[in-house]
Amino acid sequence: MRTPHVVENWIDGRSHGSVGGESLPVIEPATGAEIGRMAASGAADVDLAQTAAARAFPAWAALPATERAAMLERLAGLVERDVERLALLESTDSGKPLSLARSVDIPRAAANLRFFAETVREWKADEDFRAPHAVSRVMRRASGVAGCISPWNLPLYLFTWKIAPALAAGCTVVAKPSEETPMTAAALGELSAEAGFPAGVLNVVQGRGAECGAAIVRHPGIPVITFTGGTATGAHIMSVAGPMFKRTALELGGKNPTIVFADADFDAAVAGAVRAGFQNQGQICLCGSRVLVERGMYERFREAFVERVRALRVGDPMDAGTEQGSLVSAAHRGKVAAAVERARAEGGRVLCGGRAPEHSELPERVRGGAYWLPTVIEGLPMNCATNQEEIFGPVVTIQAFGDETDAVRLANESVYGLAANVWTADHARGMRMAEQLEFGIVWINTWMLRDLRVPFGGMKRSGVGREGGEEALRFFAEPKSVTWPG
Ligand code: NAD
Repeated sequence: MRTPHVVENWIDGRSHGSVGGESLPVIEPATGAEIGRMAASGAADVDLAQTAAARAFPAWAALPATERAAMLERLAGLVERDVERLALLESTDSGKPLSLARSVDIPRAAANLRFFAETVREWKADEDFRAPHAVSRVMRRASGVAGCISPWNLPLYLFTWKIAPALAAGCTVVAKPSEETPMTAAALGELSAEAGFPAGVLNVVQGRGAECGAAIVRHPGIPVITFTGGTATGAHIMSVAGPMFKRTALELGGKNPTIVFADADFDAAVAGAVRAGFQNQGQICLCGSRVLVERGMYERFREAFVERVRALRVGDPMDAGTEQGSLVSAAHRGKVAAAVERARAEGGRVLCGGRAPEHSELPERVRGGAYWLPTVIEGLPMNCATNQEEIFGPVVTIQAFGDETDAVRLANESVYGLAANVWTADHARGMRMAEQLEFGIVWINTWMLRDLRVPFGGMKRSGVGREGGEEALRFFAEPKSVTWPG
Protein backbone atom coordinates (compact mmCIF):
# COMPACT_ATOMS: atom_id res chain seq x y z
CA MET A 1 0.00 0.00 0.00
CA ARG A 2 1.31 3.46 -0.89
CA THR A 3 0.95 6.77 0.95
CA PRO A 4 -1.39 8.54 0.42
CA HIS A 5 -3.04 5.21 0.91
CA VAL A 6 -4.47 3.52 -2.16
CA VAL A 7 -6.77 0.75 -1.00
CA GLU A 8 -7.71 -1.67 -3.74
CA ASN A 9 -9.57 -4.94 -4.00
CA TRP A 10 -7.58 -8.15 -3.66
CA ILE A 11 -9.04 -10.54 -6.21
CA ASP A 12 -7.56 -13.67 -7.74
CA GLY A 13 -4.16 -13.06 -6.21
CA ARG A 14 -3.64 -9.44 -7.16
CA SER A 15 -4.75 -5.86 -6.48
CA HIS A 16 -7.44 -4.27 -8.62
CA GLY A 17 -9.20 -0.92 -8.61
CA SER A 18 -12.99 -1.16 -8.79
CA VAL A 19 -14.39 -2.16 -12.19
CA GLY A 20 -16.33 1.10 -12.45
CA GLY A 21 -13.26 3.13 -11.41
CA GLU A 22 -15.19 4.61 -8.47
CA SER A 23 -13.48 5.40 -5.21
CA LEU A 24 -14.24 6.65 -1.71
CA PRO A 25 -12.10 8.71 0.65
CA VAL A 26 -10.14 7.06 3.42
CA ILE A 27 -10.42 9.36 6.43
CA GLU A 28 -8.23 9.39 9.53
CA PRO A 29 -10.95 10.03 12.14
CA ALA A 30 -8.57 11.37 14.77
CA THR A 31 -7.70 14.30 12.50
CA GLY A 32 -10.56 14.39 10.00
CA ALA A 33 -8.02 14.40 7.16
CA GLU A 34 -8.41 12.46 3.94
CA ILE A 35 -5.37 10.19 3.84
CA GLY A 36 -6.13 8.16 0.74
CA ARG A 37 -8.72 6.61 -1.52
CA MET A 38 -10.33 3.20 -1.54
CA ALA A 39 -12.07 1.19 -4.22
CA ALA A 40 -15.85 1.65 -4.15
CA SER A 41 -16.85 -1.73 -5.48
CA GLY A 42 -20.18 -3.04 -6.63
CA ALA A 43 -21.79 -6.09 -8.18
CA ALA A 44 -19.24 -6.36 -11.03
CA ASP A 45 -16.33 -6.56 -8.57
CA VAL A 46 -18.15 -9.10 -6.41
CA ASP A 47 -18.76 -11.15 -9.57
CA LEU A 48 -15.04 -11.13 -10.35
CA ALA A 49 -14.20 -12.16 -6.80
CA GLN A 50 -16.84 -14.90 -6.74
CA THR A 51 -15.63 -16.28 -10.09
CA ALA A 52 -12.05 -16.43 -8.80
CA ALA A 53 -13.19 -18.03 -5.54
CA ALA A 54 -15.36 -20.62 -7.30
CA ARG A 55 -12.46 -21.53 -9.59
CA ALA A 56 -10.08 -21.94 -6.65
CA PHE A 57 -12.56 -23.90 -4.52
CA PRO A 58 -12.18 -27.53 -5.69
CA ALA A 59 -8.40 -27.61 -5.28
CA TRP A 60 -8.45 -25.74 -1.95
CA ALA A 61 -11.18 -27.96 -0.49
CA ALA A 62 -9.31 -31.07 -1.66
CA LEU A 63 -6.07 -30.12 0.12
CA PRO A 64 -5.42 -32.06 3.32
CA ALA A 65 -6.53 -29.98 6.31
CA THR A 66 -2.94 -29.98 7.53
CA GLU A 67 -1.83 -28.08 4.42
CA ARG A 68 -4.56 -25.47 4.78
CA ALA A 69 -3.57 -25.18 8.43
CA ALA A 70 0.08 -24.67 7.54
CA MET A 71 -0.83 -21.82 5.22
CA LEU A 72 -2.96 -20.14 7.89
CA GLU A 73 -0.03 -20.43 10.27
CA ARG A 74 2.32 -18.85 7.75
CA LEU A 75 -0.16 -15.98 7.41
CA ALA A 76 -0.30 -15.65 11.21
CA GLY A 77 3.50 -15.45 11.25
CA LEU A 78 3.45 -12.62 8.70
CA VAL A 79 0.84 -10.72 10.74
CA GLU A 80 3.13 -11.10 13.77
CA ARG A 81 6.15 -9.99 11.76
CA ASP A 82 4.23 -6.89 10.58
CA VAL A 83 2.52 -6.08 13.88
CA GLU A 84 3.88 -2.52 14.00
CA ARG A 85 2.86 -1.67 10.45
CA LEU A 86 -0.59 -3.23 10.83
CA ALA A 87 -1.21 -1.63 14.23
CA LEU A 88 -0.34 1.77 12.75
CA LEU A 89 -2.75 1.22 9.84
CA GLU A 90 -5.50 0.06 12.22
CA SER A 91 -5.10 2.97 14.59
CA THR A 92 -4.92 5.51 11.74
CA ASP A 93 -8.01 4.04 10.12
CA SER A 94 -10.19 3.69 13.23
CA GLY A 95 -8.98 6.28 15.76
CA LYS A 96 -8.27 3.62 18.41
CA PRO A 97 -5.14 4.03 20.52
CA LEU A 98 -2.10 2.62 18.76
CA SER A 99 -1.18 0.86 22.00
CA LEU A 100 -4.51 -1.02 21.90
CA ALA A 101 -4.13 -2.01 18.24
CA ARG A 102 -0.59 -3.22 18.99
CA SER A 103 -1.48 -5.16 22.15
CA VAL A 104 -4.97 -6.46 21.35
CA ASP A 105 -6.26 -6.11 17.79
CA ILE A 106 -3.33 -7.30 15.72
CA PRO A 107 -2.08 -10.04 18.09
CA ARG A 108 -5.65 -11.36 18.27
CA ALA A 109 -5.85 -11.41 14.45
CA ALA A 110 -2.76 -13.63 14.38
CA ALA A 111 -4.19 -15.73 17.21
CA ASN A 112 -7.43 -16.27 15.25
CA LEU A 113 -5.49 -17.61 12.28
CA ARG A 114 -3.41 -19.90 14.50
CA PHE A 115 -6.39 -21.07 16.50
CA PHE A 116 -8.36 -22.27 13.48
CA ALA A 117 -5.24 -23.87 12.02
CA GLU A 118 -4.93 -25.92 15.23
CA THR A 119 -8.65 -26.62 15.42
CA VAL A 120 -8.90 -27.98 11.89
CA ARG A 121 -5.92 -30.24 12.51
CA GLU A 122 -7.84 -31.89 15.35
CA TRP A 123 -11.21 -31.77 13.63
CA LYS A 124 -12.86 -35.00 12.57
CA ALA A 125 -14.66 -34.09 9.36
CA ASP A 126 -15.90 -37.71 9.18
CA GLU A 127 -17.69 -39.44 12.06
CA ASP A 128 -19.04 -43.03 12.13
CA PHE A 129 -22.14 -44.14 14.04
CA ARG A 130 -22.87 -47.85 14.61
CA ALA A 131 -26.34 -49.25 15.27
CA PRO A 132 -27.32 -52.96 15.53
CA HIS A 133 -28.02 -53.29 11.80
CA ALA A 134 -26.56 -50.17 10.25
CA VAL A 135 -23.43 -48.13 9.95
CA SER A 136 -23.64 -44.45 9.18
CA ARG A 137 -20.95 -41.98 8.32
CA VAL A 138 -21.41 -38.23 8.63
CA MET A 139 -19.14 -36.50 6.14
CA ARG A 140 -18.66 -32.77 6.50
CA ARG A 141 -17.44 -31.03 3.38
CA ALA A 142 -16.77 -27.36 2.72
CA SER A 143 -19.84 -25.57 1.39
CA GLY A 144 -18.20 -23.58 -1.42
CA VAL A 145 -17.63 -19.84 -1.57
CA ALA A 146 -18.24 -18.08 1.74
CA GLY A 147 -19.22 -14.41 1.99
CA CYS A 148 -17.71 -12.77 5.08
CA ILE A 149 -18.86 -9.24 6.02
CA SER A 150 -17.29 -7.49 8.99
CA PRO A 151 -17.61 -4.17 10.89
CA TRP A 152 -15.26 -1.29 11.69
CA ASN A 153 -14.85 -1.53 15.45
CA LEU A 154 -12.30 -4.35 15.59
CA PRO A 155 -11.34 -4.41 11.92
CA LEU A 156 -8.65 -7.05 11.43
CA TYR A 157 -9.59 -8.91 14.61
CA LEU A 158 -13.15 -9.62 13.38
CA PHE A 159 -12.17 -9.98 9.73
CA THR A 160 -9.80 -12.83 10.60
CA TRP A 161 -12.31 -14.31 13.07
CA LYS A 162 -14.55 -14.92 10.04
CA ILE A 163 -12.15 -15.83 7.26
CA ALA A 164 -9.95 -18.16 9.33
CA PRO A 165 -12.60 -20.86 10.04
CA ALA A 166 -13.96 -20.54 6.49
CA LEU A 167 -10.53 -21.11 4.96
CA ALA A 168 -9.62 -23.82 7.47
CA ALA A 169 -12.82 -25.74 6.68
CA GLY A 170 -11.99 -25.63 2.96
CA CYS A 171 -14.21 -22.81 1.74
CA THR A 172 -12.83 -20.08 -0.46
CA VAL A 173 -13.76 -16.57 0.54
CA VAL A 174 -15.17 -13.29 -0.72
CA ALA A 175 -14.73 -10.94 2.22
CA LYS A 176 -15.73 -7.34 2.75
CA PRO A 177 -14.36 -5.19 5.57
CA SER A 178 -16.19 -2.04 6.60
CA GLU A 179 -15.78 0.96 4.32
CA GLU A 180 -14.86 2.93 7.47
CA THR A 181 -11.74 0.81 8.06
CA PRO A 182 -10.54 -0.83 4.85
CA MET A 183 -6.77 -0.77 5.30
CA THR A 184 -5.73 -3.79 7.33
CA ALA A 185 -7.94 -6.21 5.37
CA ALA A 186 -6.33 -4.94 2.16
CA ALA A 187 -2.92 -5.52 3.72
CA LEU A 188 -3.94 -9.04 4.74
CA GLY A 189 -4.92 -9.83 1.14
CA GLU A 190 -1.42 -8.93 0.03
CA LEU A 191 0.13 -10.94 2.87
CA SER A 192 -1.93 -13.99 1.87
CA ALA A 193 0.03 -14.18 -1.39
CA GLU A 194 3.29 -14.04 0.54
CA ALA A 195 2.01 -16.85 2.77
CA GLY A 196 1.49 -19.00 -0.32
CA PHE A 197 -2.29 -18.97 -0.62
CA PRO A 198 -3.27 -19.90 -4.18
CA ALA A 199 -4.90 -17.11 -6.22
CA GLY A 200 -8.64 -16.88 -5.66
CA VAL A 201 -8.71 -18.55 -2.22
CA LEU A 202 -8.99 -15.28 -0.30
CA ASN A 203 -10.59 -12.32 -2.09
CA VAL A 204 -11.15 -8.97 -0.41
CA VAL A 205 -13.63 -6.53 -1.96
CA GLN A 206 -13.84 -2.99 -0.69
CA GLY A 207 -16.81 -0.67 -0.74
CA ARG A 208 -20.05 0.45 0.79
CA GLY A 209 -22.41 -1.95 2.50
CA ALA A 210 -25.47 -1.12 0.45
CA GLU A 211 -23.60 -1.80 -2.80
CA CYS A 212 -20.67 -4.14 -2.28
CA GLY A 213 -22.00 -5.93 0.82
CA ALA A 214 -25.48 -6.30 -0.66
CA ALA A 215 -23.99 -7.77 -3.86
CA ILE A 216 -22.27 -10.48 -1.78
CA VAL A 217 -25.46 -11.30 0.10
CA ARG A 218 -27.60 -11.71 -3.02
CA HIS A 219 -24.99 -13.45 -5.20
CA PRO A 220 -26.36 -16.89 -6.12
CA GLY A 221 -22.84 -18.35 -6.20
CA ILE A 222 -22.15 -17.49 -2.54
CA PRO A 223 -24.16 -20.02 -0.50
CA VAL A 224 -22.80 -19.09 2.93
CA ILE A 225 -22.99 -15.66 4.56
CA THR A 226 -21.38 -14.74 7.85
CA PHE A 227 -22.03 -11.20 9.02
CA THR A 228 -20.99 -9.15 12.04
CA GLY A 229 -22.51 -5.70 12.40
CA GLY A 230 -25.62 -3.84 13.41
CA THR A 231 -28.94 -5.53 14.18
CA ALA A 232 -30.87 -3.55 11.54
CA THR A 233 -28.34 -4.52 8.86
CA GLY A 234 -28.53 -8.14 10.06
CA ALA A 235 -32.32 -8.13 9.71
CA HIS A 236 -32.01 -6.83 6.17
CA ILE A 237 -29.39 -9.43 5.26
CA MET A 238 -31.62 -12.18 6.65
CA SER A 239 -34.53 -10.94 4.54
CA VAL A 240 -32.42 -11.36 1.40
CA ALA A 241 -30.43 -14.50 2.29
CA GLY A 242 -33.38 -16.33 3.92
CA PRO A 243 -35.52 -16.81 0.80
CA MET A 244 -32.36 -17.91 -1.05
CA PHE A 245 -31.86 -20.57 1.69
CA LYS A 246 -28.33 -19.46 2.33
CA ARG A 247 -26.57 -20.70 5.41
CA THR A 248 -26.40 -17.49 7.46
CA ALA A 249 -24.72 -16.54 10.74
CA LEU A 250 -25.31 -13.14 12.29
CA GLU A 251 -23.34 -11.52 15.12
CA LEU A 252 -25.21 -8.33 15.97
CA GLY A 253 -25.53 -5.56 18.51
CA GLY A 254 -25.60 -5.56 22.29
CA LYS A 255 -26.70 -3.51 25.27
CA ASN A 256 -24.78 -5.34 27.91
CA PRO A 257 -25.13 -5.13 31.69
CA THR A 258 -22.23 -4.84 34.11
CA ILE A 259 -23.69 -6.11 37.41
CA VAL A 260 -21.83 -5.26 40.61
CA PHE A 261 -22.77 -6.83 43.96
CA ALA A 262 -21.80 -5.22 47.27
CA ASP A 263 -19.55 -8.17 48.17
CA ALA A 264 -17.38 -7.72 45.05
CA ASP A 265 -13.70 -6.80 45.24
CA PHE A 266 -14.36 -3.05 45.05
CA ASP A 267 -11.25 -1.93 43.18
CA ALA A 268 -11.41 -4.80 40.70
CA ALA A 269 -15.09 -4.11 40.04
CA VAL A 270 -14.53 -0.39 39.46
CA ALA A 271 -11.59 -1.06 37.14
CA GLY A 272 -13.54 -3.82 35.37
CA ALA A 273 -16.62 -1.67 34.86
CA VAL A 274 -14.50 1.18 33.45
CA ARG A 275 -12.71 -1.15 31.06
CA ALA A 276 -15.95 -2.87 30.02
CA GLY A 277 -17.64 0.46 29.43
CA PHE A 278 -14.94 2.37 27.65
CA GLN A 279 -12.39 0.14 25.95
CA ASN A 280 -12.09 1.16 22.30
CA GLN A 281 -14.20 4.25 23.15
CA GLY A 282 -17.13 1.97 24.01
CA GLN A 283 -17.23 0.71 20.43
CA ILE A 284 -17.19 -3.00 21.18
CA CYS A 285 -20.31 -5.12 20.87
CA LEU A 286 -19.43 -6.61 24.28
CA CYS A 287 -19.09 -3.28 26.10
CA GLY A 288 -20.96 -3.05 29.40
CA SER A 289 -23.07 0.04 28.74
CA ARG A 290 -25.63 -0.48 31.54
CA VAL A 291 -23.91 -0.50 34.93
CA LEU A 292 -26.12 -1.99 37.66
CA VAL A 293 -24.89 -1.65 41.24
CA GLU A 294 -26.31 -3.19 44.43
CA ARG A 295 -28.06 -0.44 46.39
CA GLY A 296 -26.00 -0.76 49.58
CA MET A 297 -22.80 0.39 47.90
CA TYR A 298 -24.27 2.41 45.03
CA GLU A 299 -23.08 5.89 46.10
CA ARG A 300 -19.57 4.74 46.94
CA PHE A 301 -19.25 2.84 43.69
CA ARG A 302 -20.69 5.65 41.58
CA GLU A 303 -18.23 8.12 43.02
CA ALA A 304 -15.19 5.94 42.40
CA PHE A 305 -16.43 4.93 38.95
CA VAL A 306 -17.07 8.50 37.77
CA GLU A 307 -13.71 9.60 39.14
CA ARG A 308 -11.94 6.88 37.15
CA VAL A 309 -13.90 7.63 34.00
CA ARG A 310 -13.08 11.34 34.27
CA ALA A 311 -9.42 10.46 34.62
CA LEU A 312 -9.28 8.45 31.36
CA ARG A 313 -6.70 10.14 29.16
CA VAL A 314 -8.33 11.30 25.94
CA GLY A 315 -5.76 12.12 23.30
CA ASP A 316 -3.89 11.41 20.11
CA PRO A 317 -4.19 7.69 19.34
CA MET A 318 -0.49 7.74 18.44
CA ASP A 319 0.58 8.89 21.93
CA ALA A 320 1.66 6.11 24.25
CA GLY A 321 -0.33 7.45 27.22
CA THR A 322 -3.66 7.77 25.39
CA GLU A 323 -6.47 5.62 26.80
CA GLN A 324 -9.33 7.04 24.74
CA GLY A 325 -8.83 7.80 21.08
CA SER A 326 -11.24 9.19 18.53
CA LEU A 327 -14.56 7.65 17.54
CA VAL A 328 -14.58 6.02 14.12
CA SER A 329 -16.02 8.99 12.21
CA ALA A 330 -17.57 12.41 12.55
CA ALA A 331 -20.89 10.90 11.47
CA HIS A 332 -20.72 8.35 14.28
CA ARG A 333 -19.89 11.08 16.78
CA GLY A 334 -23.03 12.86 15.58
CA LYS A 335 -25.05 9.75 16.49
CA VAL A 336 -23.46 9.55 19.93
CA ALA A 337 -24.12 13.26 20.53
CA ALA A 338 -27.77 12.79 19.55
CA ALA A 339 -28.08 9.81 21.92
CA VAL A 340 -26.73 11.91 24.81
CA GLU A 341 -29.17 14.71 23.97
CA ARG A 342 -31.98 12.17 24.04
CA ALA A 343 -30.77 10.88 27.41
CA ARG A 344 -30.96 14.43 28.78
CA ALA A 345 -34.45 14.82 27.35
CA GLU A 346 -35.44 11.56 29.03
CA GLY A 347 -34.38 13.05 32.35
CA GLY A 348 -30.87 11.60 32.64
CA ARG A 349 -28.28 13.42 34.77
CA VAL A 350 -24.88 13.58 33.10
CA LEU A 351 -22.27 12.82 35.78
CA CYS A 352 -19.26 13.32 33.53
CA GLY A 353 -18.51 13.91 29.86
CA GLY A 354 -21.68 14.52 27.90
CA ARG A 355 -19.92 16.62 25.28
CA ALA A 356 -17.11 16.73 22.75
CA PRO A 357 -13.80 17.95 24.18
CA GLU A 358 -12.86 21.60 23.70
CA HIS A 359 -9.96 22.25 21.34
CA SER A 360 -7.84 23.20 24.32
CA GLU A 361 -8.40 19.74 25.79
CA LEU A 362 -6.84 17.98 22.80
CA PRO A 363 -3.35 17.93 21.31
CA GLU A 364 -3.10 20.17 18.26
CA ARG A 365 -2.76 17.35 15.70
CA VAL A 366 -6.16 15.86 16.56
CA ARG A 367 -8.30 18.95 17.07
CA GLY A 368 -10.27 18.15 13.92
CA GLY A 369 -10.99 14.62 15.19
CA ALA A 370 -14.23 12.82 16.04
CA TYR A 371 -13.80 12.93 19.82
CA TRP A 372 -16.36 12.47 22.57
CA LEU A 373 -15.60 12.60 26.27
CA PRO A 374 -16.33 9.42 28.27
CA THR A 375 -19.83 9.90 29.60
CA VAL A 376 -21.75 8.49 32.58
CA ILE A 377 -25.49 9.11 32.93
CA GLU A 378 -27.67 8.47 35.98
CA GLY A 379 -31.36 8.55 36.78
CA LEU A 380 -32.93 6.76 33.83
CA PRO A 381 -35.43 3.90 33.96
CA MET A 382 -34.55 0.68 32.17
CA ASN A 383 -37.35 1.01 29.65
CA CYS A 384 -36.20 4.34 28.14
CA ALA A 385 -34.58 4.55 24.71
CA THR A 386 -31.16 5.34 26.21
CA ASN A 387 -31.17 2.03 28.09
CA GLN A 388 -32.77 0.05 25.29
CA GLU A 389 -30.91 1.16 22.17
CA GLU A 390 -27.28 0.47 21.42
CA ILE A 391 -25.25 3.70 21.40
CA PHE A 392 -21.91 2.07 20.54
CA GLY A 393 -19.83 4.89 21.96
CA PRO A 394 -18.26 6.04 25.25
CA VAL A 395 -21.58 6.41 27.03
CA VAL A 396 -22.80 4.29 29.95
CA THR A 397 -25.76 4.57 32.29
CA ILE A 398 -25.62 3.66 35.97
CA GLN A 399 -28.40 2.63 38.32
CA ALA A 400 -29.02 0.74 41.56
CA PHE A 401 -30.66 -2.63 42.11
CA GLY A 402 -32.07 -4.26 45.24
CA ASP A 403 -31.21 -7.96 45.16
CA GLU A 404 -30.35 -10.80 42.79
CA THR A 405 -33.89 -11.07 41.45
CA ASP A 406 -34.00 -7.36 40.76
CA ALA A 407 -30.58 -7.46 39.05
CA VAL A 408 -31.69 -10.29 36.78
CA ARG A 409 -34.93 -8.51 35.93
CA LEU A 410 -33.18 -5.26 35.02
CA ALA A 411 -30.39 -6.99 33.09
CA ASN A 412 -32.82 -9.09 31.05
CA GLU A 413 -35.04 -6.12 30.25
CA SER A 414 -33.53 -5.77 26.80
CA VAL A 415 -34.12 -6.95 23.26
CA TYR A 416 -30.42 -7.77 23.14
CA GLY A 417 -28.68 -10.74 24.76
CA LEU A 418 -25.00 -10.69 23.91
CA ALA A 419 -22.81 -10.47 27.03
CA ALA A 420 -23.17 -9.77 30.75
CA ASN A 421 -20.46 -9.31 33.35
CA VAL A 422 -21.10 -9.98 37.03
CA TRP A 423 -18.90 -8.90 39.93
CA THR A 424 -19.25 -10.79 43.23
CA ALA A 425 -17.07 -12.56 45.77
CA ASP A 426 -19.59 -15.41 45.88
CA HIS A 427 -18.95 -17.75 42.97
CA ALA A 428 -22.17 -19.68 43.63
CA ARG A 429 -24.08 -16.44 43.20
CA GLY A 430 -22.19 -15.73 39.99
CA MET A 431 -23.26 -19.13 38.67
CA ARG A 432 -26.88 -18.58 39.78
CA MET A 433 -26.87 -15.31 37.88
CA ALA A 434 -25.34 -16.99 34.82
CA GLU A 435 -28.17 -19.52 34.87
CA GLN A 436 -30.82 -16.79 34.76
CA LEU A 437 -29.24 -14.15 32.55
CA GLU A 438 -30.52 -14.20 28.97
CA PHE A 439 -27.11 -13.59 27.42
CA GLY A 440 -24.96 -15.79 25.22
CA ILE A 441 -21.84 -14.88 27.19
CA VAL A 442 -21.52 -14.32 30.95
CA TRP A 443 -18.29 -13.24 32.59
CA ILE A 444 -17.82 -13.50 36.36
CA ASN A 445 -15.28 -11.07 37.86
CA THR A 446 -13.79 -10.36 34.47
CA TRP A 447 -14.65 -8.95 31.07
CA MET A 448 -13.67 -9.99 27.54
CA LEU A 449 -11.59 -12.91 28.72
CA ARG A 450 -11.86 -15.38 25.86
CA ASP A 451 -11.14 -19.04 25.30
CA LEU A 452 -11.50 -19.31 21.53
CA ARG A 453 -12.84 -22.88 21.82
CA VAL A 454 -16.11 -21.88 23.48
CA PRO A 455 -19.17 -20.68 21.54
CA PHE A 456 -19.28 -16.93 20.98
CA GLY A 457 -22.49 -15.08 20.18
CA GLY A 458 -25.74 -13.72 21.48
CA MET A 459 -29.38 -14.47 22.13
CA LYS A 460 -32.47 -12.46 21.13
CA ARG A 461 -31.61 -9.64 18.70
CA SER A 462 -27.89 -10.05 19.27
CA GLY A 463 -27.62 -12.70 16.63
CA VAL A 464 -28.23 -16.09 15.12
CA GLY A 465 -25.70 -18.90 15.51
CA ARG A 466 -22.43 -19.05 17.39
CA GLU A 467 -18.83 -18.54 16.33
CA GLY A 468 -15.71 -20.07 17.82
CA GLY A 469 -14.28 -23.55 18.13
CA GLU A 470 -15.58 -26.44 16.10
CA GLU A 471 -18.99 -24.81 15.70
CA ALA A 472 -17.37 -22.29 13.39
CA LEU A 473 -15.81 -25.02 11.23
CA ARG A 474 -19.14 -26.86 11.10
CA PHE A 475 -20.87 -23.71 9.93
CA PHE A 476 -18.75 -23.68 6.79
CA ALA A 477 -19.28 -27.40 6.03
CA GLU A 478 -22.38 -29.26 4.81
CA PRO A 479 -22.98 -32.53 6.62
CA LYS A 480 -23.93 -35.54 4.51
CA SER A 481 -25.14 -38.76 6.17
CA VAL A 482 -24.29 -42.01 4.41
CA THR A 483 -25.78 -45.27 5.77
CA TRP A 484 -25.30 -48.94 4.86
CA PRO A 485 -26.40 -52.23 6.46
CA GLY A 486 -23.86 -53.64 8.83
P1 NAD B 1 -23.02 -2.11 10.02
O1 NAD B 1 -24.14 -3.08 10.15
O2 NAD B 1 -23.30 -0.74 9.57
O3 NAD B 1 -21.93 -2.67 8.99
C1 NAD B 1 -21.29 -3.91 9.14
C2 NAD B 1 -20.79 -4.37 7.79
O4 NAD B 1 -21.91 -4.63 6.97
C3 NAD B 1 -19.95 -3.34 7.04
O5 NAD B 1 -18.94 -4.02 6.31
C4 NAD B 1 -20.96 -2.72 6.10
O6 NAD B 1 -20.37 -2.17 4.94
C5 NAD B 1 -21.82 -3.92 5.75
N1 NAD B 1 -23.17 -3.60 5.30
C6 NAD B 1 -23.92 -2.51 5.59
N2 NAD B 1 -25.11 -2.58 4.95
C7 NAD B 1 -25.12 -3.75 4.28
C8 NAD B 1 -26.07 -4.42 3.45
N3 NAD B 1 -27.26 -3.87 3.18
N4 NAD B 1 -25.76 -5.62 2.93
C9 NAD B 1 -24.58 -6.19 3.21
N5 NAD B 1 -23.63 -5.62 3.97
C10 NAD B 1 -23.90 -4.41 4.50
O7 NAD B 1 -22.29 -2.14 11.41
P2 NAD B 1 -21.05 -1.27 11.87
O8 NAD B 1 -21.57 0.11 12.16
O9 NAD B 1 -19.92 -1.45 10.91
O10 NAD B 1 -20.64 -2.01 13.23
C11 NAD B 1 -21.22 -1.70 14.44
C12 NAD B 1 -22.23 -2.75 14.83
O11 NAD B 1 -21.65 -4.04 14.80
C13 NAD B 1 -22.74 -2.57 16.24
O12 NAD B 1 -24.13 -2.78 16.26
C14 NAD B 1 -22.05 -3.68 17.01
O13 NAD B 1 -22.70 -4.12 18.17
C15 NAD B 1 -21.99 -4.75 15.99
N6 NAD B 1 -20.95 -5.71 16.32
C16 NAD B 1 -21.31 -6.96 16.75
C17 NAD B 1 -20.34 -7.89 17.10
C18 NAD B 1 -20.70 -9.27 17.58
O14 NAD B 1 -19.83 -10.12 17.61
N7 NAD B 1 -21.93 -9.53 17.96
C19 NAD B 1 -18.99 -7.53 17.00
C20 NAD B 1 -18.66 -6.26 16.57
C21 NAD B 1 -19.64 -5.35 16.22
